[in-house]
Amino acid sequence: MKVTRVGIVGAGQLGRMLALAGYPLGLRCIFLDKSADVPAAQVASILIGQLEDASTLKQLALQSDVITFDWENISAASLEPLAKITAIRPSAAALQVSQDRLLEKELLKRLKIPVVAHAQVDSKEDLTRAVSDIGLPGILKTRRLGYDGKGQRIIRNSSEIADAWRELGSQALIYEKFQVFSREVSLVAARSLSGQQVFYPLAANTHVDGILRYSVAPYINMALARVAKTYMKRVLSVLDYVGILTIEFFIVKGKLVANEMAPRVHNSGHWTIEGCVTSQFENHLRAICGLPLGSTRPLGFAAMVNFLGQMPDRKRLLAIEGLAFHDYGKSPKPWRKLGHCTILSKNEHRLKQALKDALKLIEWK
Ligand code: AMP
Repeated sequence: MKVTRVGIVGAGQLGRMLALAGYPLGLRCIFLDKSADVPAAQVASILIGQLEDASTLKQLALQSDVITFDWENISAASLEPLAKITAIRPSAAALQVSQDRLLEKELLKRLKIPVVAHAQVDSKEDLTRAVSDIGLPGILKTRRLGYDGKGQRIIRNSSEIADAWRELGSQALIYEKFQVFSREVSLVAARSLSGQQVFYPLAANTHVDGILRYSVAPYINMALARVAKTYMKRVLSVLDYVGILTIEFFIVKGKLVANEMAPRVHNSGHWTIEGCVTSQFENHLRAICGLPLGSTRPLGFAAMVNFLGQMPDRKRLLAIEGLAFHDYGKSPKPWRKLGHCTILSKNEHRLKQALKDALKLIEWK
């Protein structure tokens, strides 16, 4: 069957960039989200409804040859009835693991992929025990629905346990060692319906307060790239995965330690729009629509900078050579991701200089 209609749950900037990548391929995306005031609704059609509402999801499924996700936290129970109507890619099982930090870490561990020391926390006693077993400092995180540093709290000494429990204790939690690392990198990969796999170069990511500020790619370290690829292949294969999958790693004493994975296109892969032969958005669509995957070859050195909280001066940024500007069409709000820019250069030194110039023009707040 020729797949041309892609239903997307969630209509944020990831969905918007998917829709834009879909047009040249002859694909039409239709979205589901809670309101029309969302980035993807400006570029494609949208159904309005709760993301887990059975009847709206059914409507979406009836209009789609395949369903995929901008927002991956939808429950397996909500997706189950849709599987009879249309294809769901990646699968509900893949989503389920990635929705829960504990299940995710258990899977990675089972696949012999190193993860940060951690413990399940369901009571204050569990937390006290975890702090004593794993040590301080550590981070208490909600197992589900955390992103951009939300639902997380650093515990620096035992006197902070009670406060942390009061703040987050109503949800299922995980306590992780605060990992000292030299760098954070991510690997974005795609697996097609027929099992073809492609891997983007590693990106080096700079986060502050849990939010990605900028990524630089390719991060060149052949040995680490090889190991990351081996780890990624294990996850793609065990989940029989279809689409783009991202794994974020810490580099600890020269070795990779997995932090988390995302069953979707990823912020640290936005640079691939201008920076690679085929973007992560196009490859996700190709994968879920049963098409051959495109080349992930980089076209130069790239840096992607997020716009957080306020849009920068477009005119001044566009004066930087090789810079592409992306405005998601959102209203400003503190720390909200409103857009990004990517700078591409054939020359690494020039890229670094251009990134410095761009950073001077971008204020995060
Ligand atoms: P996460 O939501 O788990 O991806 O966390 C967002 C960011 O917070 C990461 O990219 C790291 O910069 C930081 N972070 C998360 N977990 C840890 C940890 N266990 N140790 C040190 N930093 C962490």
